[in-house]
Amino acid sequence: MTRVMAQLAMVMNLDKCIGCHTCSVTCKQAWTNRAGMEYVWFNNVETRPGQGYPRTYQDQEKWKGGWELGRNGRLRLKAGGRLRKLLTIFANPLMPSINDYYEPWTYDYDRLFSAPVSEDTPVARPRSLITGEPTKIRWSANWDDNLAGAPELAPADPVLRKVSGEVKLEFERAFMFYLPRICEHCLNPSCVASCPSGAMYKRSEDGIVLVDQDRCRGWRMCVTGCPYKKVYFNHRTGKAEKCTFCYPRVEVGIPTVCAETCVGRLRYIGLILYDADRVAEAAAVKDEKALLEAQKSVMLDPHDPEVIAAARESGIPEDWLEAAKRSPIHKLIFEYGVALPLHPEYRTMPMVWYIPPLSPVVDVLTNTGHDGEKAGNLFGAIDALRIPIGYLAEIFSAGDPEPVRAVLRRLAAMRSYMRDVNLGRERDESIAAEVG
Ligand code: SF4
Ligand code: SF4
Repeated sequence: MTRVMAQLAMVMNLDKCIGCHTCSVTCKQAWTNRAGMEYVWFNNVETRPGQGYPRTYQDQEKWKGGWELGRNGRLRLKAGGRLRKLLTIFANPLMPSINDYYEPWTYDYDRLFSAPVSEDTPVARPRSLITGEPTKIRWSANWDDNLAGAPELAPADPVLRKVSGEVKLEFERAFMFYLPRICEHCLNPSCVASCPSGAMYKRSEDGIVLVDQDRCRGWRMCVTGCPYKKVYFNHRTGKAEKCTFCYPRVEVGIPTVCAETCVGRLRYIGLILYDADRVAEAAAVKDEKALLEAQKSVMLDPHDPEVIAAARESGIPEDWLEAAKRSPIHKLIFEYGVALPLHPEYRTMPMVWYIPPLSPVVDVLTNTGHDGEKAGNLFGAIDALRIPIGYLAEIFSAGDPEPVRAVLRRLAAMRSYMRDVNLGRERDESIAAEVG
């Protein structure tokens, strides 16, 4: 019998994110507004292209020494012998440093307000929130905001470096978009696998990944082991902390803080059902490009009578089954086919999915004078979108452009079709066929 488990998941529609950081700030006020957590953003919003937070976390060549694929498909800490394991415990060299996150700073407000009148705006050297001393800022989250995709300006973005042949340095092709990130609450969480104290765990009822503060002994293997770098060390308490998917809120039926306060209303939350016995096998699929389909294949259709029967046998309550049927997550991934996971090649089976941004066609390439809303133009020129498909593919489909291309065609068709509907124009049925 299929062992069915339930998982809370999120889909974010990147076309609607305006980069206002409201989600980050409200999350911080709710969860990390205390000593030892100044540098921590359980929810952060990255500008793409950019280096991310912590800086260059996607540079797996740099970080992947931290974990490896075990024979059973589970990710585990890369040990390489007892000596190295001991050294790793004491030195743990694969962790980001505070400079990769940023040293939180504030202004010296006294000096701002008491500065003598001058023709210039008074300026003050920022002070470290940790030491209180004036600090020389070298890096901060979103430091690279507005670099807008020019490779020469954003050379440290590891994803951009990979596809730099496709991204030409032309102002007409400059692009940017926002990527909000929380913990992925992975089906195959490497943070859990790498914790030597058994403090990191995945809740069986809804898949939320948490840290047991009483059991955590501060080894920080979870920081090293998480490829998304979404576990943080509280240097006051000496314990690891992470996004909790706002479990005290979702348990009483209200959404996460980030979703509730999102200005763009772009976050969808819901339950999915999955085949718990197939996770390890799917994570171990050799071909990285096949991982997206492998991940999808463990997710079950909540409307399928056989799945429902197996879920009942597995002890999933009736109201959860109803919630899974109503969930927008399954619809967005499978029915509408518009959502993709973040870096499926990391093999942790992330459970925060994204609808990639549909950017306009670059006029200078097509010489049509039209923008990307014009259906015929868009379908004919889907590879001339402002944001290169190769760049999106490196982020959402292990470098395979086809899944991204398919999603963008569908989004383009939906947008064009609805525009015709809303303007009362004759509907183009060939576009409707594209939507399916
Ligand atoms: Fe663990 Fe990282 Fe996955 Fe979150 S994103 S569940 S911290 S491996
Ligand atoms: Fe984007 Fe919503 Fe966060 Fe604003 S609140 S940055 S729109 S995800």
